[in-house]
Amino acid sequence: MRALVVDDSRFIRNYLHSVFAERGVECVEAADGQQGLSCLRSSGPFSVALVDWNMPVMSGIEMLQAARADPAFNATKIVMVTTEAENDHIEAALEAGADEYLVKPFDEAGLFDKLRMAGVEEP
Ligand SMILES: [Mg+2]
Repeated sequence: MRALVVDDSRFIRNYLHSVFAERGVECVEAADGQQGLSCLRSSGPFSVALVDWNMPVMSGIEMLQAARADPAFNATKIVMVTTEAENDHIEAALEAGADEYLVKPFDEAGLFDKLRMAGVEEP
C-alpha cells in the first residue's frame, strides 16, 4: 500500500508519515494541491490520497476535482481531510468524488476506520 499525504501542515504530514511508516506503508508528502497533483502524476500509483481542504496555491477541493477529472487516478481512493468547523464541506467533497472524509482532529483508529470505509486495502 502506498499513500499520498497532501497537507500544508508539516505537523500533520509528519504525524501521518509516522503512523503509516509503523505499518510499513510507503508515504509520499506534498504541501499543497498542485504538488499533490504532480505527485499523483509522477510518483504514483497510490492506494489512497489524504487531502487537506485548506491549503495555499491549490486547495484540496480543487485538487480533488482535477484528480477526479482524470481517469488515470480512478483506482486511487481520495479521502478529504477537514476540520470540524468546515463540516459543510463534506457534502461538496463527496459530490466532487471523494471516497471518504476525515475530520480533524483524528487519531490512528479514526484514520484507519475511514481508510477501511473508503475501501482502501489493509496495510
Ligand atoms: Mg491546511
